[in-house]
Amino acid sequence: MSKITIPNQIIRALWLLEKEGFPAYIVGGSLRDALLGNQPHDWDITTPALPDKMLGIFTAAGYTTIPTGIAHGTVTVLIDHTPIECTTYRIDGEYTDARHPDEVRFTDRIADDLARRDFTVNAMACRLPHIAKWSGTEPAFSCGVTVSVDELEIVDLYGGREDLRRGIIRCVGDPSTRLTEDALRILRGIRFCVQLGFAPDPATEQALLDCRDGLAHISVERIATELIRTLESPGPCADGLLLMSRTRLWKYVLPEIENGNISKYFKSQKMLLHAVDRLPCDATKRIALLLCGAGEIGAKAACRRLKLSNRLTEAVTAYVGAIDRPCPATEPETRRYMAELEEYAEGALFVAAACHADEKEAYEAALKRVAGIRARGDCLAICDLAVDGQTLMHELGLRGREVGEMLAKLLDVVLEDETKNEKEILLQIAGGM
Ligand code: ATP
Ligand code: MG
Repeated sequence: MSKITIPNQIIRALWLLEKEGFPAYIVGGSLRDALLGNQPHDWDITTPALPDKMLGIFTAAGYTTIPTGIAHGTVTVLIDHTPIECTTYRIDGEYTDARHPDEVRFTDRIADDLARRDFTVNAMACRLPHIAKWSGTEPAFSCGVTVSVDELEIVDLYGGREDLRRGIIRCVGDPSTRLTEDALRILRGIRFCVQLGFAPDPATEQALLDCRDGLAHISVERIATELIRTLESPGPCADGLLLMSRTRLWKYVLPEIENGNISKYFKSQKMLLHAVDRLPCDATKRIALLLCGAGEIGAKAACRRLKLSNRLTEAVTAYVGAIDRPCPATEPETRRYMAELEEYAEGALFVAAACHADEKEAYEAALKRVAGIRARGDCLAICDLAVDGQTLMHELGLRGREVGEMLAKLLDVVLEDETKNEKEILLQIAGGM
C-alpha cells in the first residue's frame, strides 16, 4: 500500500491552521509527487484562512512570516528554516494578457481553488483527518509523519489520481480556455510530460497546438526556465521534444532548430531530438546539441535572446564551437584539446559525440583519457609548468615578450610529452631554443 511521508515542518503548519478551525490541505505538485512516491521538492498548503489570519496564527506561534505574496493570498512561514507557502483558497479572475489573472478573489470552497489549477494531476488536495486533535508535543512533530494514502482525506474532483495511474497530462476544464488564459501552462504541460514520463491526452495535445501563439506573450525568462527544467529532467526527453515539434512550439522556444541548419549533422529534426537522449540530463549540453546547426555565433545569439546566464551561454558557445574539431585520438592530442577548451573539454566531447554518432567509440575513449589526465593532474596551462617567467628571466636572461613566447613554446613541449615538465629539462630546452 502506498505511503507518503510529510516533513515535520509541514505537519506543524497544517496543525497550527487546523487547530484554529481552518481546514489545511497539502495541494498541487507536492501531493502529485508524493502520490507518485517521489519526494516533493516544495510543499504547498491551501486553506480558507485569509492572509491576515494566517499571519496572526503563525506569528502567535512564534514563527517568522514573509508576506511577499499577500495580494495573491500567499503567506510564507519559516518553520525550522524551511519556507512553507500557505495560500488562501482563491478564484482567478479574467485573463486578458495570457499570463496573469486581472484579479484574484478569495473563496471558502476548496473546489473553487482546485478549478483554477492547470492539470488534473496538479489539482488535488489532501488533508490529515483528526490532525486538529493532535497534541503539539507528539513525536510526529519532530520526525514527520508517514501515512498510508488511504488514511488521507483526498479531494480529487477532476480524476487526477486516475490520470496519475494512466500517465496522462490533462487540463482541468476546457483545454483551449485554460491554455489561452495562461500560455505558460503550455510549456508546463510539456515539462510535466517529460519529468513524469507522461503523455498529453488528445484534447490537451490539440490545445497545445491551437494555443501556441499565446507563448508570444510569455517572457523569455519564463520560457527559458521551462526549457531548462524540461531538459534537466532525469530520464529520456525525446518524446517530449517531439511533442514540441508536433505542437509547433519551437518557433517560440528555439526557432534555430527549425531553420534546416541541422542537416549538417542530422538528416531530420526528429533525429536531432532523439540524439538529445544520448546526453546526460544536463540542460547546457542539451541546449548546445539543439543549437549545433546554428554555429558558434548563432548559438551565442540564441542564448542571449533567451537571457540565459553568462555561464551557461559561455559553455553552450564553447561546446558548439568545438563540434567540428577532430576527436582527440592520443594523449598529447587530448591534452591540447583540454588546454584549449579548459573546463569545457568534457562537455564539448559529450556534445560532439552526440553529433557524430558514428564515432561513438572514439569519443568514449577520449573522455576516458580526459578523466585520466585530470586525475593525474597533467600540466595543461602555463601556470602548471615547472618553470615560471621569473625563472626564465633569471636563469636565461629573457626579457619582455620573449618570456611569454618561451612559456608558450614550453607548454607546447609539455602538452606533447608530460614527462618533460621538470625544471631542469625545461631550462635545458629553453636554453637550446
Ligand atoms: P514544480 O514545483 O515541480 O514546478 P508544481 O506543479 O508544484 O511543479 P508550482 O509552480 O510549484 O508547480 O505550483 C504549485 C501548484 O500551483 C501547481 O501544482 C498547480 O496546481 C498550481 N499552478 C502553478 N502554476 C500554475 C499555472 N500557471 N496555472 C494554473 N495553476 C498553476
Ligand atoms: Mg511545486
